[in-house]
This record gives sequence, structure tokens and C-alpha cells, in this order.
Amino acid sequence: MNRDDFPILSRTVYDRPLVYLDNAATTQKPRCVVEAMMEEYYNVNANVHRGVHFLSQKATDLHEQARETVRDFINARTSSEIIFTRGTTESINLLAYSFGEAFMQEGDEVLISEMEHHSNIVPWQILSERKGLKIKVIPITDDGQIDISTYRSILEQSTKIRLVCVTHVSNVLGTVNPIKEIISMAHEQGIPVLVDGAQSTPHFKVDVQELDCDFFAFSGHKIYGPTGVGVLYGKEKYLEQMPPYQGGGEMIQKVSFEKTTFNQLPYKFEAGTPDYVGTHALATAINYVCNIGMDQILKHEQELTAYALQQLRTIDNMQIYGHPENHPGDAVISFNIKGIHHLDLGTLLDRLGIAVRTGHHCAEPLIHRLGIEGTVRASFALYNTKEEVDALVQGIQRVVKMF
Ligand code: PLP
Repeated sequence: MNRDDFPILSRTVYDRPLVYLDNAATTQKPRCVVEAMMEEYYNVNANVHRGVHFLSQKATDLHEQARETVRDFINARTSSEIIFTRGTTESINLLAYSFGEAFMQEGDEVLISEMEHHSNIVPWQILSERKGLKIKVIPITDDGQIDISTYRSILEQSTKIRLVCVTHVSNVLGTVNPIKEIISMAHEQGIPVLVDGAQSTPHFKVDVQELDCDFFAFSGHKIYGPTGVGVLYGKEKYLEQMPPYQGGGEMIQKVSFEKTTFNQLPYKFEAGTPDYVGTHALATAINYVCNIGMDQILKHEQELTAYALQQLRTIDNMQIYGHPENHPGDAVISFNIKGIHHLDLGTLLDRLGIAVRTGHHCAEPLIHRLGIEGTVRASFALYNTKEEVDALVQGIQRVVKMF
């Protein structure tokens, strides 16, 4: 892995080398992604889809090539199943609105898990308020796994569940959910599944056809791409029946004051000028990780996570959440040190140049389930090194001594 591709990694913070371990929040950008954006603004920029002129066609080509790159990356069947959004959050809000309009009625249920990010809770609550639905929750076990047998019985006991919405990887615990099994169990009852892929796409290969998920959401900025661009994948058979989420330009076929007809997929869901520079930059990021190889990235991050767990466990009073021995997790480690508030620990690590995240990580129900107020979270990306893990461990030891 070439750290030199990421200019920001060579900067200092408080005169110390930056150790960036907040990758689950957002990743740093390789030079090629930033340059792709600059190049497009300097040389190509024009609005897409509606121009006959050279630049508009060139920008449109880049935008539609990006859709094809995303399709290939997650192995969707057709690029009309790839909807560009602003990120995972907007993808799930779009789905909640449009799926809710098309397929849900008062008294219906949405099944989510106890380890969801707020982005996969709140849109369903808003929909529930609007439509009089009920939200059901799959509990997790004490070691941070989805309780599969309870999930099975919830599925079997209710005939009202219309959608299951589960994260692929927990952004707090690093738990990699058995998503294929979760999907096939829902399908046995005829229920479609949304997978929140915000924390899986940056770390390992995802194949939506192989998983057979019905919807899949992810964010560009967590996979070395720009902020403000994301993806909702959906099976055509559902998307075709769902109404638009927003109205405006691009998403229409014909407009009169009496009646509007909507554009075909995926444009029906993409009102207004899209972030065409962002989509091109996202495709550049995807090409970047694919050139390294998702398997290589996974191997590197698994080694790093195992090493970090081993080293962190040597620290007195260390409490690590999730990551049981028999279920190797993803490159996210949440922890606390008994007697030190997570905010103090994070702030003091920052003074040593080490960027970690503290708090509830937008997963308050999960944090409550763990019986705590928050954690310190270290999360790794392809460019992190064992030396940075050592810096984290030494930093924590230093803070412990101060207390
Ligand atoms: N879902 C998960 C599991 C996440 O970790 C995040 C962000 O941290 C999101 C959803 C929301 O992503 P975004 O803020 O890019 O929309």
C-alpha cells in the first residue's frame, strides 16, 4: 500500500506526525481522486444529460461511466439499478420514502437490528410516524453478534414485516454480520432486505447478486472518494414500482401543468443536477481500490486489526467491545479504559497526533445496549501501519500513566 498516494498522511498535528485512525467516519483521499475532480472542473465542466455541446457530452460520458464502474464494483445486474445519492443516509431516506409509499400500509412492520447506525433507524421512524407502522428490533448477543435464533422467531411470528434493514458491518463493534444468511431467512418469508453497506464496501468485495440483497446503500467518502456522493442499489422489480423521492429536472419525461410523467430508471430517482464531478471522482476511487485489489486490502486490514487487538489487550483495565475470538471482525475497534472517560482519552490522544473518534458513533441504542455512554473508536484503512497501531498503544499507555 502506497501511503505517498495520500498527501494528508505526511502532515503533522501539534508538531507530531499524524496518525489517522478515524477511517470509519471518513477516509483520506488519494491524489488521483483529488486530481480527477480538479481535472474535470478545469477541463470538462458542463451540466450533464441535457446539452448537445462537446463538454456536456463529455461530462455526461464520465458520469455514466461512473455508474457503470459502480455497477461493476458491486456486481449489479444493470446500471439502471444504480441510483446516485448524497450518501448512505440519503440512500436510506430515499428508500424509506419511496418503498414506504409503494409497499407499506398502516399496521405494517419494519425490522431493523439493535446495532444500526442512526441512518438506518431514524428514516424508518419518520416513515412509521407518517404511515402508522411499527418498528421491530432484532437483539444482539452480549458479544455483539446479531441474535440469529431470535431473528428467526421474529420473522416466523409476524406476517406484517415488509422490509428487513440491517447493517453489513457494525460501525461500532466491527461485527461482520452473516448477511447472506440474514437475507435468505427473510426471503424464505417473502420479505425484501436492505443492507447498509457503509462500513463493508471500503473493506471487502461486495457482490449484490451473490448476496441477493434487494437494496444496498453506501457512501463514496468512506471508500476514498469525495464527500457528498453515494449509491442506492435496488432490484429493478422494486424500483420500477416505487414513486420518485424528489421532483424537479432530470427525473421527468414530460411536464405540463396538468400532469407529469416520470423518467425511466435510474433517473426517476435523481432529481436536479447530479454531483457529476463527485460521481467521476467516486469511480476514480473505486478504480484505485480495485487496482490494489479488495482481497489485498482485506488481508492487510485483517492483519492490522488482529495485531491491534492483541496489543490493546495488553493494556490494564482495557475493555474492548465485540470482536469475540470465534468471529473475526472488521477494521473497527471500540474500547474504554476503566476509570478514564472516553472523551478525555480521545482528547489526550489527539494531543499526541492520534486521531480517534469518541462518543456514541451515531448508534445510541447500541451504546445503551452495551450499558455505557460511549467509547473510543480506532478504525483502520488500507494505508494504516503496525507502527501507527504501536503509536496508539503507546499513546494510551501514556494517558493511563497521567491518570
Ligand atoms: N451507516 C453506517 C453503518 C455508518 O457507519 C454510517 C456513517 O458513519 C452511515 C450509515 C451514514 O453514512 P453517511 O453519513 O455517509 O451518509
